[in-house]
Amino acid sequence: MAERSYFDWNATAPLRAEVKAALAEALALAGNPSSVHAEGRAARAVVEQAREQVAALVNARPGDVFFTSSGTEANMLALTPEIETPAERRPRSRLLLSAIEHVSVRAGGRFPRVAIEELPVDADGRLDLAALSAVVAKTSRALVSLMLANNETGVIQPVAEAATIVHAAGGLLHVDAVQAAGRIACDIDALGADLLTLSAHKIGGAKGVGALIRKSDAIHIADALIRGGGQERGMRAGTENVAGIVAFGAAAAVARRNREAEAAHMLALRNLLETGLQAISPRAVIFGAGAERLPNTTLFSAPGMKAETAVIAFDLEGIAVSSGAACSSGKVQPSHVLAAMGVSPPLTRGAVRVSLGWNSTPADVEMFLGAWRKLASALSNEHGIAA
Ligand code: PLP
Repeated sequence: MAERSYFDWNATAPLRAEVKAALAEALALAGNPSSVHAEGRAARAVVEQAREQVAALVNARPGDVFFTSSGTEANMLALTPEIETPAERRPRSRLLLSAIEHVSVRAGGRFPRVAIEELPVDADGRLDLAALSAVVAKTSRALVSLMLANNETGVIQPVAEAATIVHAAGGLLHVDAVQAAGRIACDIDALGADLLTLSAHKIGGAKGVGALIRKSDAIHIADALIRGGGQERGMRAGTENVAGIVAFGAAAAVARRNREAEAAHMLALRNLLETGLQAISPRAVIFGAGAERLPNTTLFSAPGMKAETAVIAFDLEGIAVSSGAACSSGKVQPSHVLAAMGVSPPLTRGAVRVSLGWNSTPADVEMFLGAWRKLASALSNEHGIAA
């Protein structure tokens, strides 16, 4: 049995084996992609190849991919009133968000606080489309930002339906596909996204690289976040992170090739894990279980459980899990996602996220269930609860 089982893939995935070699090769390149000499052209060539690979993952054109330093930066770049289209050159008036967005979207980008409105989700954590219709109908020039899959629950959002509603009202749709990419289909046209965010480290690339991808060159962001040398066609100045971008491209290529097989593998293990979890403690609750979810994610809680204690207990048993979103762990903060789903505060405080990946194994799941058995029996002794 493995010494440790890593079940925190939604926080970050390990570098894919195939990516390591590409990363090492790219690190050895001396040139700056902006230089005209042979060394510069060699660096430019690998960056452009990666752009093609990342574009292919979401069925976009390479010229519509802009590399950034992270998914967070891509979200920040996207969320601006200054998005022009041939039909509308005036600034976007409002930013509409679902109540379960990642903190990097909840922060609202370059919109003033007063221009931001949150939309409710149902008890399974899916956007309320009727609320979206009602709000968007009375908002001219809205920018709507909706994640494709939630990082805590894994619940998949009705993005294509939302796109139809948003476009009918003359709005634009930004989709944060950071958790969805490589796990479910992510076709920018099929989703109806005008802008889409990806992050390399969730799909087996290196940490610290992301991309903002637009549907076509009809979408123009008029205020770049970082201005200077004109890299990324003026959208993101600064010498490119060549090795990180190359690794992102390599990871995107593998993710695209292996997606269906890896999703089936993760789903089989996740089902094993959830069946075992609830067999050990029938009162355990799996959040978002009534909705379509990513194949790798389980967010659960049980009466009497405290997430911080449970995460430490699992860690001592050799298992890496997290309490809700990684960005908010360290600070004991109730999950805004579960609050929006109407989950009671005591159950929310116990929420632990288990997220699997392409190299998770049945032995990892067994190890997790062994640890859960111990934890659940300690809980029931402590609280006199039939866990
Ligand atoms: N969006 C979602 C849904 C995420 O889960 C994350 C990271 O956890 C991000 C955006 C931010 O990506 P990055 O870590 O590349 O800044």
